[in-house]
Amino acid sequence: MPDPAPFRALLGPAGWREGADAAGFTRDWLDRYGAAPLGVALPRDTGQVAAVMRLCAEQGLAVTPQGGNTGLNGGAVLSAGAQGIILSLARMTRILAIDPVEYTVTVEAGVVLAALHEALGEQGLTLPLHLGSEGSARIGGLIATNAGGSHAMAHGMMEAQVLGLEAVLPDGRVWDGLRALIKDNAGYQLRRLFCGAEGTLGVITRAVLRTRPAPVAQATALLTLPDLAAAVQAGAFLRRRTGEFLSALEFFPELGLALLLRHVPLPRPVETRGPVYLLVELATSIPGMGLEELLEAALADLLEEGSVTDGVVAATGAQRAAIWQLREELPEGQRREGAQIKHDVAVPVGRLPEFVARAGAAAADILPGVRVNPFGHLGDGNVHFNLSPPEGRADFGGLAGALSDAVYDLAVDCGGTFSAEHGLGQSKIALADRLRPGAERDMMRAIRHALDPEGRMNPDKLV
Ligand SMILES: Cc1cc2nc3c(=O)[nH]c(=O)nc-3n(C[C@H](O)[C@H](O)[C@H](O)COP(=O)(O)OP(=O)(O)OC[C@H]3O[C@@H](n4cnc5c(N)ncnc54)[C@H](O)[C@@H]3O)c2cc1C
Repeated sequence: MPDPAPFRALLGPAGWREGADAAGFTRDWLDRYGAAPLGVALPRDTGQVAAVMRLCAEQGLAVTPQGGNTGLNGGAVLSAGAQGIILSLARMTRILAIDPVEYTVTVEAGVVLAALHEALGEQGLTLPLHLGSEGSARIGGLIATNAGGSHAMAHGMMEAQVLGLEAVLPDGRVWDGLRALIKDNAGYQLRRLFCGAEGTLGVITRAVLRTRPAPVAQATALLTLPDLAAAVQAGAFLRRRTGEFLSALEFFPELGLALLLRHVPLPRPVETRGPVYLLVELATSIPGMGLEELLEAALADLLEEGSVTDGVVAATGAQRAAIWQLREELPEGQRREGAQIKHDVAVPVGRLPEFVARAGAAAADILPGVRVNPFGHLGDGNVHFNLSPPEGRADFGGLAGALSDAVYDLAVDCGGTFSAEHGLGQSKIALADRLRPGAERDMMRAIRHALDPEGRMNPDKLV
């Protein structure tokens, strides 16, 4: 019989919660998943994490690590039927060292991304990872899901920022891989293995991350385009014309903007309406680079050749923020519209128009009138292919499964993936079993079993 007493004794009242006191930790962000844990452990350092893991090993308990609990696939809460604890990193929030010579920062895994941005900003540094959940998401969760966001095109996903890691293994041993090295080829890249492992291999407790000089200037534009193919061409053109300054390329359709403006009163920055909008941003850490002129000259060429029908370059910081707000609030607009189905997929950038057209047609065949809101990261092919029911209807009439299967199958058929940046958690596990190549699944199972032979780390997630 699981016994909470040793956890209470080890962690004290600040570090162990049960019953109603654990309520804020037990359901996922979208309130779709969550089972009651024995309790929630809130260790304050690596030593306590290791001790908690040993207690769980002794009692045969499952362990679900939790960061900010902003994951969108139910990965950070217990699955139904699992008997175990949630191990929250919420009390391990120290920024241990910022090194302006190595361009690194060493943090505990519970540091919230926005807090890290603020601390780095004070030193003229940045971690080039930006996402809508950065006010709550924690470094350990961002590593464990290998988060992407809007600047992955220029700087890679979270894995590209991780130099070293410390993690506690399922049996309670501490792996000290906290090295601040770019070149570290001593065998398997274990630090990378933990990126995207979603808490199935151990608990990330500390990390050394790469930093970069913070941008001192940005130029941001919102463009109207005749279709997605034109947006892809414009993106390729802007890469050539603006080189290493291009830091973000985000797209969204008129439907997404219209849904947002229906529910959230925001101004339209460009007068000419879609069908497609492209957010373009250039950034530099070098003063006086003339980014606005560079962007305006490139846009003038695009307007002249007709691949862009309208555009506005932000003249002030407030205008820049207003443009980004439209992009970042798109999910909120769709959420307020009512029922929705989200799909986080990616295809090669050049095949985005084909994918969106084919998936849109397939969805309309299954449910005529279904509203398709594909938006996302044009620079890396990651599209959030989200659906709302036909206007005036409250739900998908039992067709959600068929709609999702069609979307995921087409993403794979277009050379892409059924999971781009949000990870698998519990919601995509059956899908992964269906669409993942057999050899890939076998390797993942073998890795998981090797590190966690008892299968206690975040069971029913990922594989
Ligand atoms: C509004 C909104 C916008 C978002 N935008 C983006 C986006 O643009 N790009 C993107 O990639 N994601 C996005 N997400 C998804 C989510 O924010 C990311 O997946 C994020 O990385 C999760 O971090 P977290 O700390 O909340 O992790 P959690 O949700 O707490 O956990 C996620 C997974 O990581 C595991 N985990 C957590 N901490 C640890 C640890 N210390 N050691 C081992 N495993 C751990 C958990 O067990 C779980 O499997 C968004 C979410 C929201 C709500």
